[in-house]
Amino acid sequence: MTTNFDLAPPPAALAGGGVAVPIDISTIDAHLTFDAAAQAAHGAASLAFVVGPTAGRPVFDLRQTVTQVVLDGSALPVTAVPLVDLGGGPGAEVRVLDAVLDSGTGHTLAVGYDVGLPASPPGGGYPPHLVWSGPAGARRLQWNVGFTDLAPARYLESWVPANLIWDQYTVTWEVTITGTTVAHTLITNGALTTLGPNHWSVAFPSRSTALSTLIEVRPADELLSQTTHVALPAAGRTITVQAWTTTSSGIDLAAALADLSAWLVEDDSQIGPYLHGDRFVTFLLQGGMEYDGGCTATRGTLRHETFHSWWGRGVKPAGQPDGWIDEAWNTYHDNGGATVDPFNFAEPAQTLCSREPYSRITPGASYSGGARVFAGIAAVSSPPALTALMSGFYSAHLDRLITTLTLEEHLVARIGAGAPDVVDGFHHFIYGFADPSPIPDLWLRDDPGHTGSEQWTGRFWDSPDLWIRHADDGGTVHQAPVAGQDNWFYARIRNRGAGAARHFMVVFNVRQYSGVEFVWPSDYLPGIAAAGGFDLGPGQEVIVRARWPAALVPPAGTHACWLAAVLSRADRPVAGAHVWEHGNLAQKNLTIHRVQPGQTITVPFGYLAGLARRLEVHAPVQVRQWAFSLRPRSPGSQWRSPVIEGSTRPASPGRTMPLAHGQPVPVPGPQAPGSTVAVFAITVPADATPGMSGVIDLVARDERGSVVGGIAVELTVVKPTGQIDERLRQ
Ligand SMILES: [Zn+2]
Repeated sequence: MTTNFDLAPPPAALAGGGVAVPIDISTIDAHLTFDAAAQAAHGAASLAFVVGPTAGRPVFDLRQTVTQVVLDGSALPVTAVPLVDLGGGPGAEVRVLDAVLDSGTGHTLAVGYDVGLPASPPGGGYPPHLVWSGPAGARRLQWNVGFTDLAPARYLESWVPANLIWDQYTVTWEVTITGTTVAHTLITNGALTTLGPNHWSVAFPSRSTALSTLIEVRPADELLSQTTHVALPAAGRTITVQAWTTTSSGIDLAAALADLSAWLVEDDSQIGPYLHGDRFVTFLLQGGMEYDGGCTATRGTLRHETFHSWWGRGVKPAGQPDGWIDEAWNTYHDNGGATVDPFNFAEPAQTLCSREPYSRITPGASYSGGARVFAGIAAVSSPPALTALMSGFYSAHLDRLITTLTLEEHLVARIGAGAPDVVDGFHHFIYGFADPSPIPDLWLRDDPGHTGSEQWTGRFWDSPDLWIRHADDGGTVHQAPVAGQDNWFYARIRNRGAGAARHFMVVFNVRQYSGVEFVWPSDYLPGIAAAGGFDLGPGQEVIVRARWPAALVPPAGTHACWLAAVLSRADRPVAGAHVWEHGNLAQKNLTIHRVQPGQTITVPFGYLAGLARRLEVHAPVQVRQWAFSLRPRSPGSQWRSPVIEGSTRPASPGRTMPLAHGQPVPVPGPQAPGSTVAVFAITVPADATPGMSGVIDLVARDERGSVVGGIAVELTVVKPTGQIDERLRQ
């Protein structure tokens, strides 16, 4: 079973001692029995779950009257599941099981309960109903689950014991109505099996969360339905589309289905493939609420609720603080998807994403206020570019629930020159943070001796605060990247300012060759990935990491240079800055080789020809006498040899220009300015001792002698292949 504990709210200390901890539920089986004779209902549910990395008392929720609690076959008192406020505030309490369970252990919790209207705060356009009518023996039931984002505890937990929305699991509802001769119909987006008269089972797949399950029960003779079939181009299949309403609503189902079919095709082709199997179901009556591949709606809200099967219930929020995303983007889409409205930071800050992990409400401002945030992001790109970025985000997050930070990282990495404005926009209009005062000053070291000054005159091309790992393993030692697999960018960010950074982002980029004069922002943006963080106080440091997707890792033998830039409200690099001119910028031009005695290694690097630049080798004393040279990138390349000054001539195959430690030579190349690639070659002497190592720098100086670029090559001498240690042959 896969778990997502990193998406869960953190363990929370309990006022009476102990700690409330998240659990990961794998299955929920619930049986709700509606007794028409007694006009009462009862629930019996069973949860299979594992405890997370922290031992403690499990967190879940149920907004019904508990009559029985059985943990792993042993009965507990009904008082063992009290409602506790872990930080979400009034109405957002959760149940905390009064049993301390070990981390990583698996359990089964069975709960019996009387079913009535949920004891949850009111709200939403189509609230839950549980209404009996008619005479004894022919009673009629109207029951709907009535979920809403706009009040806490109004998802699955309002009827069935369930987890907060970060957790995914299979759900099976069995529903029975006894004691009536009236035939009822169950409308659902789940896989429906009719087990008998007024007796159904509904199954939901393992990607379901607490906000997935649409269920509506009414007497069959009070309902109308129509069905059609729609071919979805991106999903590559034809789905059944079913629309229901009541006999008295007057809603034109044929017209609704025609609209719905067009919107489903439009969303599937513009956003990405439909995720919810081979059906879409809508119950048209009042309000509007989205479910996975279904909705309750009116003719007026149907388009909005359909869009949610991609945004909100296709790509799903990991927590309620992330619930603003789908309403904001949906409203931007409702408004035509073309609005441009530049951020005005003189306007009051707006909080759409609470920093309270136990928050359980989507703010009302998420709709129009959230749509304005997207209009502000469109102003630093364009509406079509933003729409394409959002579709890319959809396709990249079908398997894993999304957070606000994940969305910001996606946009900041890819949007280009507008990235700093997106960071500011999230700071002010999504997290709702005030402008910092005093301001933070974030930086990465250019060298172990760098103490944070914006200007740094020392070695800057091998930042110790920027490194690569083969896995998301938390390691702090740079590894040469491996082609054909995901690698990970890491950066250590420090704050030397007097004020805290409430929020920051780091953008990572890779340049194919070890180019030497990278400039903000054009060499950094758009980047490959970004990683964000919160609340970095004065004097503090933190490590962030981001995935470097396999498809973007260059092939083996290609020498990459890594760039990182840290962005925060009131602290960003100045345009045109080089890495040594601004603390927010860092680069790593380090290649790592294991070499045998007598072997020559080559490192391609880029530079700007036609400028007055000189190249120079700096080597530690133990390797200073090795042979260093520059070579053209390929036979036939034209370069102006500094040894044979004056004319441009083709370089002969294998032609080399010797370099010696501390002795600069003019860069070779064409006299016209332009990007040039050359090769830095190092030959290890045949008598070099295995185990010997050193970092050799090739630095570029401008006409004033200032260092303007560099690449570092770390060499370790190993035993020649095939050389057998004689002592092992005994
Ligand atoms: Zn909505």
